[in-house]
Amino acid sequence: MYQLIDGKKISREIKDELREKAAQMKARGEERCLAVIQVGNDPASAVYVKNKKKACEYVGIRSLSYELPEETEEERLLEVIGELNRRPDVNGILVQLPLPEHINEEKILLAIAPEKDVDGFHPVNVGNLSIGRPSYVSCTPAGVIQLLKRSGIEIEGKECVVLGRSNIVGKPMAMLLLRENGTVTVCHSRTRNLKEIARRADILVVAVGRPGFVDGDFVREGAVVIDVGIHRNGEGKLCGDVDFESVAAKASAITPVPGGVGPMTIAMLMANCVEGVR
Ligand code: NAP
Repeated sequence: MYQLIDGKKISREIKDELREKAAQMKARGEERCLAVIQVGNDPASAVYVKNKKKACEYVGIRSLSYELPEETEEERLLEVIGELNRRPDVNGILVQLPLPEHINEEKILLAIAPEKDVDGFHPVNVGNLSIGRPSYVSCTPAGVIQLLKRSGIEIEGKECVVLGRSNIVGKPMAMLLLRENGTVTVCHSRTRNLKEIARRADILVVAVGRPGFVDGDFVREGAVVIDVGIHRNGEGKLCGDVDFESVAAKASAITPVPGGVGPMTIAMLMANCVEGVR
């Protein structure tokens, strides 16, 4: 029988701990403040932004909301970020992605001061993570580490295989597992013998962005499987990159979708806002 890793419960625990910390900080006159910028009205982004603001409210972080029209010029967005960089009362700045096509995403992310980059996407933070210095860490992979630790799953010395090498999930995931003394292999679309490599894993993290891609054939008996993927299937239901039934039959622990990695991303954003670089 497998252990179901409950991301809803763990994310709630984290938010409750942060709520206490934020209250103590506030009592010392150190209120945290997150500025969230959304450009345009992509409905999915609007939902993410709403959930982030709700989480801020719950934890006790002040949130500033910038809802800019779709046609906002890049220069204007850079000005807003510049102002927020200079404001001493703002600790975190988040630009909701994706941005409209006429805006250069990389330029925008580079403009955010690294010490306020609570998403952990700025090259200074990415670089610090890779050389083992304190940094803001991308929220989704940071959430995976918390899921493992808080479920009593040891990482040190384990064979960890990460499927996917994106800048926001796969690569920082690999760095974090390494920081926890795992032995890490990263796979991608050009990897040969993917199944054999995946079957070596004690801990398999799947972030390929393909619904149901990983089935029981990829998994060694007793492995821990973390599913980062989020998709909507034909019936409009959420599903992951992992075929839950066939993998759960072999795994010792597994995350569900929904209710696994998903809720952890916002919890870790809140952690970045309250605790700063770690
Ligand atoms: P991405 O940027 O599309 O990256 C996917 C990675 O998977 C790439 O490195 C790609 O390899 C690799 N890949 C694709 N097909 C493969 C195959 N057949 N075999 C082996 N590797 C393959 O996706 P992402 O942003 O990392 O996101 C991954 C998934 O996580 C998505 O479903 C996304 O929705 C989800 N996600 C969830 C959260 C959350 O909060 N839970 C947050 C972020 C993302 P190449 O580099 O060679 O192309």
